[in-house]
Amino acid sequence: MSAPLDLDANATEPLRPEARRAAIGALDLVGNPSSVHALGRAARRVLEDARERVAALLGVAPAAVFFTSGATEANAIALAGAAREGRRILASTVEHDSVLRAVAGIEVVPVTAAGMIDVDALSSALAADPRPALVAVMAANNETGVIQPLAEVAAICRAFGALLHVDSAQAPGRLPVAELAGCGAASVVLSAHKAGGPKGAGALVLPTGWWPGALIRGGGQERGLRSGTEALPAIAGFAAALEAAEAWRAAGGAERLISLRRAIELGVRERVRQAVIVAEHAPRLPNTVCLALPGVAAATQVMALDLAGVCVSAGSACSSGKVAESHVLRAMGLGALANSAIRVSLPWNVSDDAPTRFLDAYAAMVARLAQRAVEPIPA
Ligand code: PLP
Repeated sequence: MSAPLDLDANATEPLRPEARRAAIGALDLVGNPSSVHALGRAARRVLEDARERVAALLGVAPAAVFFTSGATEANAIALAGAAREGRRILASTVEHDSVLRAVAGIEVVPVTAAGMIDVDALSSALAADPRPALVAVMAANNETGVIQPLAEVAAICRAFGALLHVDSAQAPGRLPVAELAGCGAASVVLSAHKAGGPKGAGALVLPTGWWPGALIRGGGQERGLRSGTEALPAIAGFAAALEAAEAWRAAGGAERLISLRRAIELGVRERVRQAVIVAEHAPRLPNTVCLALPGVAAATQVMALDLAGVCVSAGSACSSGKVAESHVLRAMGLGALANSAIRVSLPWNVSDDAPTRFLDAYAAMVARLAQRAVEPIPA
């Protein structure tokens, strides 16, 4: 049997070779980056080199980059900091749970049927209450791939003096990362493993000098924002992955993903007419298509495709392996379809035959389910 077809890149991207090399190199460093002796200084050089490379990609000063254990922690630091400052926190209804559940009392801002934040509702919410605010809007959604209108959101935040927080976990290798910090955001979040780096590293980038304060206190690493010895191999791999992902995207990787995604969408339209391509006409990540199959539970589809050797996910499945109803699709007004959608997300190393393999498995699954539906119920 051939290897499973990985179409779950939004859960985690396969490790890029550049990231593997960098991480393995850093594993052999004996020193602690905080030690002042020669071994510590050697480790520190690798850490600061990674920081400079991440900063250069985002067009910010190295001092604006703070390494964390991933996007979840980076979101938590920013939102907890804003809450501690007494800010109102507004977030789009389609944010990742690591934003929506970071602190209590978050005010949610609705999205349109296309999954994009309702900018008028955001303006009204900010106008209705003069307290200082932080607005959390993701660069692109992990389930639907819908890209948020960050420039417009940033302009609204500027007009109301609100801080903008951008969870960019799904952006690297798919969208130009330099634009993320350039939009005026006070905090930008990245995750190594979503960029083809090792799991367990990420960054909170603070381009404007906003200081949310620490969530984890201790030895004062990361200039006191995030104590704990830095995960050097994961961080070194992160910087290498981010660089490789950006170069790869700009050199035609994104176009290739778009053409493969389009092949899937075309095939679905031809072969499984009842399927709904969620947010079909919205700007979406090159690699992501969310497909709803009326009347068929997402869990059933994920299991059937898994048996056919195709790995996709349902709901916000990158969180805990659960297949729960999608709050994202519910927020987009999909009603019962929110229980019936799978996410197909192409990894950077996707093969040319992936659309055919997926479509064959998907169409066969639908045919089997239809067959079962007409089977007489045993007396
Ligand atoms: N934000 C978004 C948009 C995500 O897709 C994810 C991944 O599941 C996260 C945050 C959490 O990322 P991490 O696994 O680095 O904590």
